[in-house]
Amino acid sequence: MRKIAIYGKGGIGKSTTTQNTVAGLAEMGKKVMVVGCDPKADSTRLLLHGLAQKTVLDTLRDEGEDIDLDDVMKPGFKATSCVESGGPEPGVGCAGRGIITSINLLEQLGAYDEDKALDYVFYDVLGDVVCGGFAMPIRDGKAEEVYIVCSGEMMAMYAANNICKSISKFGKVGTVRLGGLICNSRKVDNEANMIEEFAKKLGTQMIHFVPRDNMVQHAEINRKTVIDHAPEHPQADEYRALAKKINDNTMHVIPTPLAMSELEDLLVGFGILN
Ligand code: ADP
Ligand code: MG
Repeated sequence: MRKIAIYGKGGIGKSTTTQNTVAGLAEMGKKVMVVGCDPKADSTRLLLHGLAQKTVLDTLRDEGEDIDLDDVMKPGFKATSCVESGGPEPGVGCAGRGIITSINLLEQLGAYDEDKALDYVFYDVLGDVVCGGFAMPIRDGKAEEVYIVCSGEMMAMYAANNICKSISKFGKVGTVRLGGLICNSRKVDNEANMIEEFAKKLGTQMIHFVPRDNMVQHAEINRKTVIDHAPEHPQADEYRALAKKINDNTMHVIPTPLAMSELEDLLVGFGILN
């Protein structure tokens, strides 16, 4: 079973990209579980065709330890298994700790057992790892392969670089590795070239360039992935291509994060900052 975490700045497209990629893998016949690790609990909405389910932390709060796997894990598109960790009350408690509590509970309930025959688990993790809590899944070896969603916008690259600092720190003492950057286009000038160069400097690859397309919004309004809503659309093929590249990927590295000045030089070099 490959244990993958998707990181990236808030709003960059982690949940959209994760679910569409998972839909692509499911189409290939892979058995996948998605664990949403964002208090927003919207990491599985497109696979489930709605936000119906109760989160692990809410279930724990309401029902105590006596929980069945079916209470927190729901079947989604093409038999994907969908879980939302949920979050602490806003302003109270640590979201990172909540994620670990959820993953431990899933382990206890047998979600990862051999009989589930999982090919993949995907963790969709909020934030840019400024708070150590969000590094928990990679620190504790729950996730071993990270993909960072970013764009050519400076703040997205800044966040990606921070995430690389965290992977580098924990990679040296553990099993976590970076599998690549997923460029989710914001239509910045020179974006693909810049992210390719950024990836190279980090010691990794831009595994795919996902174009910005309104079909993503159309599918989202229908509570579906693009693959589910418009399987013939070119954007669906982009996600299928990304799924295949991740499935075939063998490049797993400990990244070399950039100094702030190097990051700025990159942006200047590609004409983004004057
Ligand atoms: P995150 O999970 O990183 O916070 P989301 O996946 O929720 O981000 O994406 C934020 C918004 O961006 C969503 O409403 C989604 O419709 C939009 N979006 C993401 N990727 C694309 C894309 N490739 N083209 C068009 N819109 C996109
Ligand atoms: Mg999200």
